[in-house]
Amino acid sequence: MNEPLSFVHPTPESPWGTYLAQVDRVVPYLGPLARWAETLRRPKRMLIVDIPIELDDGSVAHFEGYRVQHSLTRGPGKGGVRYHPDVTLEEVMALSAWMSVKNAAVNLPYGGAKGGIRVDPKKLSLKELEKLTRRYTSEIGVIIGPQQDIPAPDVNTNAQVMAWMMDTYSMNVGATATGVVTGKPIHLGGSLGRVKATGRGVFVTGREAARRIGLDLQGARVAVQGFGNVGSSAAELFNQAGAKIVAIQDHTGTLFNGNGFDLAELMPHVHASGGVAGFQGGEAMADEDFWDVACEILVPAALEGQIQPDRARRLKARLVLEGANGPTLPSADDILADRGILVVPDVICNAGGVTVSYFEWVQDFSSFFWTEDEINVRLDKIMVGALKNIWDTADRHRITLRTATFAVACERILQARQERGLYP
Ligand code: NAD
Repeated sequence: MNEPLSFVHPTPESPWGTYLAQVDRVVPYLGPLARWAETLRRPKRMLIVDIPIELDDGSVAHFEGYRVQHSLTRGPGKGGVRYHPDVTLEEVMALSAWMSVKNAAVNLPYGGAKGGIRVDPKKLSLKELEKLTRRYTSEIGVIIGPQQDIPAPDVNTNAQVMAWMMDTYSMNVGATATGVVTGKPIHLGGSLGRVKATGRGVFVTGREAARRIGLDLQGARVAVQGFGNVGSSAAELFNQAGAKIVAIQDHTGTLFNGNGFDLAELMPHVHASGGVAGFQGGEAMADEDFWDVACEILVPAALEGQIQPDRARRLKARLVLEGANGPTLPSADDILADRGILVVPDVICNAGGVTVSYFEWVQDFSSFFWTEDEINVRLDKIMVGALKNIWDTADRHRITLRTATFAVACERILQARQERGLYP
């Protein structure tokens, strides 16, 4: 009855193909709600926009931008905006769908959305980046808003980009609308604790998972792929808990230090040079060797599709904490499960960022701001509670944490779908 979507051609390795395979795996656990499962395979609304800007040299460049609202069933859309030369509609569809699942997994009153622009922002000046952001915001302005869809930072976007988005949207509607984006600077309605919230969530879920499998964080060896917002914040917290960060890979290279990196020295190097390459406090190694490093915990915190079957067979870790979205292919997931390597999946592991984004949105509505301690305590409580619920579900059905997270989340989404009924 339902033909596949005509405009995407997913493969088992592509992000949307990965997501569809994950949905297929959860359907047997949805009971009568499985009747609604097709809604999970079809994003509600997708917008593709042309973004022309005048460059500093006077020429005009066009960029392709997207905003996909996968589901608005449980509330407004919510999800980040990615600036990357390889962004595609298909990738943004998958990222938006994972946001629906993630938001439902931690029980936030949101649907799922995501945006992106096909651009290498490192090739643009600050002025050009501002123009790009403002024109993109204006183009997607017809579907975003504090009650419609609330963007946030993702790969290569940050608090400054959110400030431009908030200002552009506010200018267009004629009123300051702080709640239209989260991840803003603190004095523009941002929330304390937001910048490090995703990494903190990775740490909290990792700490809980380690406790449950009897892995002591004291002296545990951690390998981190991606040393941006998520990877560096998670690394810092694991370090503070007594673990050693022994390998780090980013787009500039891969470093190893068996005694553990001195992050207080590494961080300024990364900020100054744009990556880990060239840091003297570790040895450079071949990128592919990263996957053979002896460690107890692996944190993929870069891009999708990194853990492929061959790498899954070689990994030494006991615990994989998915800071990134979609870092593990379904075929690799099976290998990790067979090898007894526990994966805390993206849809719960990196939900700390959107949880504090939710706190930010709530604070903006009430114009009453919480302390950082309050934020961190509430975040910890939500993440621990959500993981416990997922863990119990996994135990009950004897399924992986990923399928259990999908089961908890999809049940919430489809229950809401059923209760709302179909319009008209
Ligand atoms: P970021 O731009 O701050 O950092 C990205 C990191 O990945 C950088 O260190 C970069 O060098 C590295 N990287 C890029 N390409 C790479 C490659 N080919 N090999 C190795 N490393 C590479 O981005 P971020 O916000 O830290 O996001 C990282 C991941 O976490 C993404 O998958 C994102 O969707 C996910 N995520 C982010 C948030 C958030 O709040 N920022 C929330 C949830 C999930």
